[in-house]
Amino acid sequence: PYSTNAFRSYKQAPGELILLENVGVIDPEKIDDYLAKGGYQALKQALTGMTPEKIVEEVKASGLRGRGGAGFPTGLKWSFTRPLQVPQKYIICNLDEGEPGTIKDRYIVEGDPHKLLEGMAIAGFAVGADKGYIYCRGEYYLCKHRLATAIAQARAKGYLGENLFGRGFSFDIEVRSGFGCYICGEETALIESIEGKRGYPRSKPPFPGVAGLWQKPTIVNNVETLAAIPAIITRGGEWYKSLGTADTTGTKIYQIIGHVRTPQIVEVPAGITLRELIDTYGGGMRDGGKFKMCQTGGASAGIVGPEALDVPVDFGMAKVGGALGSGTMLVMDESVCAVDFARSVAVFFAHESCGQCTPCREGTRQLLQTLTRIWEGKGQPGDLDFLERLGKTMMDASFCPLGQTAPAPLFSLLKRFRQEFEDHIAGKCTHGVCKM
Ligand code: NAD
Ligand code: SF4
Repeated sequence: PYSTNAFRSYKQAPGELILLENVGVIDPEKIDDYLAKGGYQALKQALTGMTPEKIVEEVKASGLRGRGGAGFPTGLKWSFTRPLQVPQKYIICNLDEGEPGTIKDRYIVEGDPHKLLEGMAIAGFAVGADKGYIYCRGEYYLCKHRLATAIAQARAKGYLGENLFGRGFSFDIEVRSGFGCYICGEETALIESIEGKRGYPRSKPPFPGVAGLWQKPTIVNNVETLAAIPAIITRGGEWYKSLGTADTTGTKIYQIIGHVRTPQIVEVPAGITLRELIDTYGGGMRDGGKFKMCQTGGASAGIVGPEALDVPVDFGMAKVGGALGSGTMLVMDESVCAVDFARSVAVFFAHESCGQCTPCREGTRQLLQTLTRIWEGKGQPGDLDFLERLGKTMMDASFCPLGQTAPAPLFSLLKRFRQEFEDHIAGKCTHGVCKM
């Protein structure tokens, strides 16, 4: 009954939900609804019965890996920051969800904002931070509204503010808005943006956990990561670890989009196969179409073919050229032309390059120009070699992951569908979709 704006519906998976358990069930603007579902019990348990060290150990034991896409072990990240003896540390929640097709964080925050606040407060206590920032994507208006309401209610009830549960620990949260810039989802660009500067990535190391916001130790975690924390505290790291796969423990939110009958967002134990996602949750291929390929994990991830349909979609998927990334699976049937798709990805990266470094600023532009020429039937012999040389240079020389990974989808497509590119250079698009 309490709809979010994000999607028509999500499909209730069999088994336990952790992240979406309250979405669509409680009124996200009423803290009492959240409390009635056991909300803030984990924070109480953490503050009244646990030490910060014990919390970090529990998160380590859970095996939780960062859900923004990179999969860095969360407990390990916290363990680097916790012992640092400095007067100020920060928690930043990354809600600048910019990965194309990815709406999981929006879904959590629109439907259950207190779960995120609770996870952040626990993280703050664990690492010794008394201030949290949520960096929210500019277009996520409903998220900002829901967060403002939830933060005010949590303050009024004493779940945010001074001396929480009498433990002598204070924690408060501020929401900062991005402005629709993909690169500001990169943690150091995000930090620059909060500091009021242009969102240019910084070089790493030092990692933010040591020198982040205003050069203070800062934990940057994704919404989905932080939303898993309350359940890990109340039910234990071992329980969380019993879900999912050895490589990717717990549950994961997947978005199954593209040429399926019912595009869907679903939370299931990590490691479901692509075939199950398509057939069970996506309703099968659209209009009886035949599966051609899937872009896994986000715009910069590799493309997999039918041979990957029965491989678990977890962080280990990299072994077959795919990626769990943000959990977005863009399914494509045989109506899709590889060149047309490569060009659309190039449009995205050329638009989103922040321009700070030459290999990416010029490289994304030249990738797009060359692919557009091929797409228009004006390709030249040697174009594919040029694209490969250019892509390799971008991967080697770009400053941050955006430029380093922008050519990855193209490489994946060239490996799989080189003939389609060559056909275009010879003047024909067998799919009849390119501008020739
Ligand atoms: P990364 O591997 O550099 O870092 C991941 C996290 O681990 C960071 O917080 C980093 O600070 C930390 N870390 C890594 N090594 C560390 C070390 N030795 N010590 C301490 N901390 C360490 O990856 P990244 O560049 O932050 O993220 C790339 C990912 O972002 C990609 O997988 C991509 O899919 C994803 N992405 C997601 C979205 C989205 O909307 N969710 C958008 C764009 C990109
Ligand atoms: Fe900016 Fe691209 Fe360079 Fe990253 S690689 S700093 S996005 S220009």
